[in-house]
Amino acid sequence: MFVTHLECSACSRSHPAGKPANLCQSCGLPLLVRYDLEAVGRHLTPEGLAGRPATMWRYAELLPVPAGYPPVTLGEGMTPLVELPGLGRALGCRGLLVKDEGLCPTGSFKARGAATGVTMAKVLGIGHVAMPTAGNAGGAWAAYCALAGLELTVIMPEDAPVVNMHECVAYGAHTYLVKGLISDAGKIVARGVARRGWFEVSTVKEPYRVEGKKTMGLEIAEQLGWRVPSTIIYPTGGGEGLIGIWKAIQELQALGWLEKGRFPRLVAVQAEGCAPIVRAHRQGAPVSQFWTGAGTVAAGLRVPKAHGDFIVLQAIAETEGTAVAISDGEIERVQAVAAKHGLYVGPEGAAGLAAVPALRDRGWLDAGEEVVVLNTGSGLKYPAPVRPELPVLEVDAEP
Ligand SMILES: *Cc1c(COP(=O)(O)O)cnc(C)c1O
Repeated sequence: MFVTHLECSACSRSHPAGKPANLCQSCGLPLLVRYDLEAVGRHLTPEGLAGRPATMWRYAELLPVPAGYPPVTLGEGMTPLVELPGLGRALGCRGLLVKDEGLCPTGSFKARGAATGVTMAKVLGIGHVAMPTAGNAGGAWAAYCALAGLELTVIMPEDAPVVNMHECVAYGAHTYLVKGLISDAGKIVARGVARRGWFEVSTVKEPYRVEGKKTMGLEIAEQLGWRVPSTIIYPTGGGEGLIGIWKAIQELQALGWLEKGRFPRLVAVQAEGCAPIVRAHRQGAPVSQFWTGAGTVAAGLRVPKAHGDFIVLQAIAETEGTAVAISDGEIERVQAVAAKHGLYVGPEGAAGLAAVPALRDRGWLDAGEEVVVLNTGSGLKYPAPVRPELPVLEVDAEP
């Protein structure tokens, strides 16, 4: 175990690892796991990694689970980095690579954060976890909690994807819908935390989910032979994956496995109907403002205010990246284009792909650049809606 402590992402205050923690006790902002990277470097080499199983647990030394503790795992990670020259040509970028997270257990990259988050909840002796979700996090956490024997309460918007509701029910989570947005679901969870002792596992409100998401960045670097592409495009809701990828690259640079100071430009993609981070980036603001009336077909991107927004904005600024908003019409068009070229992406992944022509048009991206787009979830998770019978809460009601 190479974890040294938890560090506040804003004020750098140190918190002890090894006991349940949510946010910084001083400023209420997200905590990040810190490692003794020198010791990791003495223990692990890129060559030593090569023979390990093709899951995200191959990076065990860079993950928070104590040595010898069996991870709660469904074999997540090491998703393919697919070369799609046809789709690349259609979108105006010959060097397009898609990291296909649709192949993760439960059909989205949320499996990675659930695997580390649920394992650490077990390690720390937590019994009942709770989360608001736009959909896929609920499905993933429900699966991993079922695997681990943890109790889970999930609250999602009434119009979340129906498949996500079915997943949560099938895996046995206490599942509720709310007449509102993920931010309203978050308020109900916060009350349950205060009154019922639930442990909150919302995006970046505990430090271990982002460690699982970090493995996407570790894998991209390893799959490219320990180098980074020129640009990484990430469909951004709460921003956990982008924060994780940025952290992965920093850690690999500190280990000396990647060239120091050479970052891919990180691009946050949002939907025009909910683009708080794009707006903040455009204004040069350090944090985003709540986006009123959020609405988009890309459910995973419907996050009106992300708790880790300032880290996302910092990652974009420091890597000379950018943020771009895509219309629902363009998301649907590009989803169809991608399917015609062999990849059935979810609407979030389609937004990521749609950023390629959008950034080409602005002259921000060159046709020959090596660009990695994260397809965060499978298109199979979004069939025609048939809703299960579930209790429907008023925004101010109790489950
Ligand atoms: C949750 C989700 C996102 C957004 O992820 P964040 O890490 O919260 O930004 C994107 N795509 C899909 C499919 C998701 O489920």
